[in-house]
Amino acid sequence: MNKKTIDDIDVKGKKVLVRVDFNVPLDADRNITDETRIKAALPTIKTLLDRGAAVILCSHLGRPKGEFNMKYSLEPVAKRLKELGLPITFAKDVIGESAKAAVAAVKPGEAVLLENLRFHKEEEKNDPEFAKTLASFADVFVNDAFGTAHRAHASTEGVTHYLPAVAGYLIGKELDVMGKALENPARPFVAVLGGVKVSDKIGVINNLLEMVDTLIIGGAMSYTFQRAKGGKVGNSVVEEDKIELAKELMQKAKDKGVNLVLPVDNEAAQEFKNDTMRITVHSMDIPEGWEGMDIGPETRKIFAREIAKAKTVVWNGPMGVFEFPNFAEGTRAVARAMAEADAVTIIGGGDSAAAVEQLGFADRISHISTGGGASLEFLEGKVLPGVAALNDK
Ligand code: AMP
Repeated sequence: MNKKTIDDIDVKGKKVLVRVDFNVPLDADRNITDETRIKAALPTIKTLLDRGAAVILCSHLGRPKGEFNMKYSLEPVAKRLKELGLPITFAKDVIGESAKAAVAAVKPGEAVLLENLRFHKEEEKNDPEFAKTLASFADVFVNDAFGTAHRAHASTEGVTHYLPAVAGYLIGKELDVMGKALENPARPFVAVLGGVKVSDKIGVINNLLEMVDTLIIGGAMSYTFQRAKGGKVGNSVVEEDKIELAKELMQKAKDKGVNLVLPVDNEAAQEFKNDTMRITVHSMDIPEGWEGMDIGPETRKIFAREIAKAKTVVWNGPMGVFEFPNFAEGTRAVARAMAEADAVTIIGGGDSAAAVEQLGFADRISHISTGGGASLEFLEGKVLPGVAALNDK
């Protein structure tokens, strides 16, 4: 990475504003149900504290629509950080009296967490005044929020106009691992894409077709490709207006010599729910009245075999409706194949990261990105504004 990191600057005695990604899932009682993102931010925070910085943490959580909403308060995160041993206080607002007092009081070796940035609509609008006020709290800015690095918001891009700005360890690690995989992959390089929308992933497919040896497509996305091949898909999710595009992408794969692997069979359901009539369709001609919900047994074997041959695997998007246990087999098969592969294995955040966690394969994957949207944009070859805005080395 050609950006400065916290290892390139002296933070002793300085106030350091750190944008982290504490966008963690909470249950109805505001208990944190997955603290992966909190744990992922700790190396940067601890290093800054150890080096004598006074740390001011800021993050968003959920989509509170620009106003205070207790449901999206970061207070449970502050509580958890305290339990994890951090000397931390919590400010009850973002740029108001509580924040100002907490920032004035914070000493070297201590931290304060500001309230949810998105309680101000100015955050997502990248409002310069809001960014300037945030910046006025500190001497240096550190961005370690990979999950929002693809957004030019006040706390990711705006503040960099007013403070020296460097990357934290998490952003550094995410970019190093994924950058290396894309720039100089050990081959065969296999990409696995799933999920619902072809339209969301056109850019990724296009970019990956330039570099992979094999592209595997599963999930609801594959039905649009199946229609492009003239197949029948019953009631499955299809983007009719993307059928032509699917044809073009298949042609591009052929032109580039990429091995495009599509499903050959399916698990189908009568209704979109877990407990419903199910059939295995041993072809891609799904009968009328049935909906494809997961890849079938033969497809699971084929996908696993392709992954086993790989030296680099990148995966984004589930192979079926994995949230329903009856339709999680396809996603499980890919997760298992990745866990068993003798390869660098990378999961691009979002649903596939949740799936490997849920299915118990997470500790056997080389890298699970903390940012679904950000890693997708990275795989598309796009510049991430939150990274581009940081100071060059
Ligand atoms: P995405 O956000 O595009 O990665 O899509 C993730 C979602 O795709 C998950 O919620 C899955 O339940 C859903 N999904 C995967 N396969 C299917 C399918 N065959 N039919 C409907 N939804 C699917």
